[in-house]
Amino acid sequence: MAVTQPPPVAAPPVDSAHEGILRRQALRESAARTYARSLPIVPVRARGLTIEGADGRRYLDCLSGAGSLALGHNHPVVLEAIRSVLDSGAPLHVLDLATPVKDAFTTELFRTLPRQLADRARVLFCGPAGTDAVEAALKLVRAATGRTGLLAFTGAYHGMTAGALEASGGAQDVRVTRLPFPYDYRCPFGIGGERGAEMCARLAENLLDDPKSGVQTPAGMILEPVQGEGGVIPAPDPWMRRMRELTATHGVPLIADEVQTGVGRTGTFWAMEHSGVVPDVLVLSKAIGGSLPLAVVVYRDDLDTWPPGTHAGTFRGNQLAMAAGAATLAYVRENGLAARAAELGDRMLRQLSGLATDQPCVGDVRGRGLMIGVELVDPEAGAADDALPGRGLPAVPEIAAAVQQECLSRGLIVELGGRHSSVVRLLPPLTITDEQADAVLDRLSEAITAVSRTAGAGQTGRQPQRGGSRAGLPNPVPGTSR
Ligand code: PMP
Repeated sequence: MAVTQPPPVAAPPVDSAHEGILRRQALRESAARTYARSLPIVPVRARGLTIEGADGRRYLDCLSGAGSLALGHNHPVVLEAIRSVLDSGAPLHVLDLATPVKDAFTTELFRTLPRQLADRARVLFCGPAGTDAVEAALKLVRAATGRTGLLAFTGAYHGMTAGALEASGGAQDVRVTRLPFPYDYRCPFGIGGERGAEMCARLAENLLDDPKSGVQTPAGMILEPVQGEGGVIPAPDPWMRRMRELTATHGVPLIADEVQTGVGRTGTFWAMEHSGVVPDVLVLSKAIGGSLPLAVVVYRDDLDTWPPGTHAGTFRGNQLAMAAGAATLAYVRENGLAARAAELGDRMLRQLSGLATDQPCVGDVRGRGLMIGVELVDPEAGAADDALPGRGLPAVPEIAAAVQQECLSRGLIVELGGRHSSVVRLLPPLTITDEQADAVLDRLSEAITAVSRTAGAGQTGRQPQRGGSRAGLPNPVPGTSR
């Protein structure tokens, strides 16, 4: 009887542990993975701003868990808080039951809130991601007002679950009315500055004031005080106050999504404090869990009209995250890290502005505190009128992607974002030292210089993208900035 020989088994490729892990990830993980595509790193150790890869390379991490790590990696107070829960024998899973750990977290959280909100605050512990808290906030205001519509803004990012996605700039839904967000460099009205923001406010006011505008009074308005994924765009304070006045006049709850801007990141504990505006609903996640998953919605008591069980879930009591979060909130407050973020952020912005003068591919440098963006553009592709205020030069995502890779090869991890993925974003921990900040800026500026040289030689194969429209190639790494 003829024996069929099995086909020869291909010898597994010989690669290092680092390469093997990356290869298996590429084979086994979903096509929907994001950061892993542009950052082929296998982190094995980390402390503060520094990450060490399985290949022994060290990186300065200015992505910081997409802005989650207010104190950087493995801060001693965070580790100590986690250990003390583990050593205490407390249950790790408690649904939404009361515990001393949760009580301490809530007390610390309320301590950081503006008085007006703290005095009448309710907190909902929801699923642990930012998008879960956004969903919960939308359900809350719909239940409280009996309305369904929502006002949201161009360039917004609120998460990836259905309701949060509707509220974000990339999706469309009949229940969401999209209003222009003031964006100085690419002004929706092509004028920029205070007048551009004024026009944005006027349009919003007109839609709610005009009974025939076609926009019904909505259940809420949701906004980010600094758009993060949208390209690091701080909302002007006067515009923010106009949105507060407008929503108050029409009895529309104002929801501030501070998932990314919270816990000192922008130079005040909560970014809404810059304008003095007190929102009706505050959506929080990322840094409040001290690097572990945690999300909450804080809102004024009169909105708390929904019946028990309206928003339930199994994972709403992550004890380790609450302990790590309480330790983080307390450390940021006690050590004045918001003020430190304001001061260091200003200095970094000033230094980066010098880069903008030297490098024509740097179209704009902006930010608030330690939330900083550098928008990369194609200076050659711009017609004369594109250089006017509020009419940014065409975005070139390939240049931004190339800068990200040049940064990586110099041991610097940066994030991309913006309407066209052409904004290099810095979200360092608030504990970053002056020397580390200098090292970050040196590496970033070397990376931009290196890419400019290549781009000048016409080697990036770039496809300029006109402000406001997606043209040419898709983003080099879709969804990287989420
Ligand atoms: N809101 C804002 C402002 C965010 O920046 C993000 C995440 N980048 C989210 C919501 C969603 O958070 P998560 O990714 O944890 O769902």
